[in-house]
Amino acid sequence: MRNLFINYNVNITDEQFEKFEKYYELLVFYNEKFNITNITEKREVFVKHFIDSILGVDKICGKTLIDVGSGGGFPAIPIKIMKDDLTVTMLEATGKKCNFLNAVIKELNLKNICVINGRAEDLAKDVKYRENFDVCTARAVARLNTLCEYCMPFVKVGGTFVSYKANAQEELKEAESAIKILGGKIKDVYNYNLEDANRTLISIEKVYKTDKKYPRGNGKERKSPL
Ligand code: SAM
Repeated sequence: MRNLFINYNVNITDEQFEKFEKYYELLVFYNEKFNITNITEKREVFVKHFIDSILGVDKICGKTLIDVGSGGGFPAIPIKIMKDDLTVTMLEATGKKCNFLNAVIKELNLKNICVINGRAEDLAKDVKYRENFDVCTARAVARLNTLCEYCMPFVKVGGTFVSYKANAQEELKEAESAIKILGGKIKDVYNYNLEDANRTLISIEKVYKTDKKYPRGNGKERKSPL
């Protein structure tokens, strides 16, 4: 498995590699009870979950990160394994996935990382979290226009929202007005190949504060995206 990281030009220490091995074991063990992921074959997990999560690690600048819709911990936990000095908050709506994430934190002995069981639409209204993070990440949670309304409120002015996407061109076009309304500006679009899949990391800089009326709540982010 270690060669996979080398193939993708990712430098990894023995300690980091051991954490990924342990994370894989926990994922497979808990998956039977908690139904966390459809991908369980070892090589596939390492490429499609672990390496996919960390290929954008140099787009992550700052000290604090919130990951919206973490599910089984992607991309937050692989990023934390690679960047130990980062303070990470994982936000996840499903309780049993939060139980799994807490077990991973404990077993991997990760510090300065926590899990919140809740929805982005609610937490983004809380002054403790609103515009309080250098970076927000999200992978496979919603289309970009909806996702911007969930994520941009968490980002400080000057910070970045990093969205992990497949074939992002159409979603980028569709999200143009949402990005602007929420105080963002496209900073970088980074395309890469992961085996046979096209992947894109979209970095959106927060240039203005987000108006307090966003996120609108009551499912409007999904039903009628900005
Ligand atoms: N990010 C992980 C990944 O890439 O494997 C999980 C992706 S999974 C398809 C989407 C996750 O987002 C689910 O676990 C779901 O519970 C969570 N989710 C969806 N909408 C959310 C919201 N508004 N607030 C918090 N979590 C949300």
